[in-house]
Amino acid sequence: MPRKRLDLTFPPRQATKPITYHLVKDFDLVPNILRAQIHPGQEGRMVLEVTGRKEDFDAGIAFLESEGIVVKPAATDICLDAEKCVLCGLCTAVCRPGALTLNGRGDELVFDKDKCVYCEACVVACPRRAITLEF
Ligand code: SF4
Ligand code: SF4
Repeated sequence: MPRKRLDLTFPPRQATKPITYHLVKDFDLVPNILRAQIHPGQEGRMVLEVTGRKEDFDAGIAFLESEGIVVKPAATDICLDAEKCVLCGLCTAVCRPGALTLNGRGDELVFDKDKCVYCEACVVACPRRAITLEF
């Protein structure tokens, strides 16, 4: 079954709406929340991996947009600029899933794409701006 990653931005009035419930119940989609920053009364962000048939996916997206939620494709990779990287390890310290690590000798930054949830923490943490998200 096709699988897509979506980056959702919620307006404050929709921050607490159970949209994943509706995606499952009304559109037969299987959402997997990779990242969420939701607070009542504030703009929220959620990164979802959604599995389902194309027609259900399209209907689910239309539902989200009708609710005022901004839907964009989520990042699918990160780009490391080895020229800029000084192997300080700050990005590995903020990468909770352990997708970024320094090798045993500390002379190479290793990225495990399967563990990455595209939270952007490493992008923000890097003092050299050596990491960017790719879409
Ligand atoms: S985007 Fe998040 S999960 Fe992915 S490598 Fe960076 S800190 Fe780790
Ligand atoms: S924070 Fe930036 S400079 Fe430091 S190891 Fe990570 S990518 Fe390299």
